[in-house]
Amino acid sequence: MTDTPDCIFCKIASHAIPVDAIYEDDQVIAFNDREPQAPTHLLVIPKQHFATIGAVDAALLRPLLHAAAVLGDRLLPNGHRIAINTGADGGQTVGHVHLHVLGGRQMSWPPG
Ligand code: AMP
Ligand code: ZN
Repeated sequence: MTDTPDCIFCKIASHAIPVDAIYEDDQVIAFNDREPQAPTHLLVIPKQHFATIGAVDAALLRPLLHAAAVLGDRLLPNGHRIAINTGADGGQTVGHVHLHVLGGRQMSWPPG
């Protein structure tokens, strides 16, 4: 799979930089966020580069969300939040789509 130059998550997906994968298959990889916002904070990403969730192939949405949901249920049986920040107003800071899986504390609503 070809990396998109200078994309940090492409480098993680291809193991060009080391990653302690929590889950990995041929399409998806999950790893800990480096600045956790909750006691458990994972990122689930497609290995293929897409900038935003709206750009992801429909067929890939299923394994992506499934991985996040299964990991959330397994690691955070008391509940969790799956979040996808999209674009500037959505708070997206890395331009390779990623699902946040957060838990281990009471999540507040509305989000900031
Ligand atoms: P967002 O603000 O939704 O785009 O989320 C990007 C997330 O990626 C942030 O929570 C960062 O802490 C996280 N992040 C950025 N670079 C890395 C990295 N090299 N390894 C793990 N997490 C990262
Ligand atoms: Zn990328």
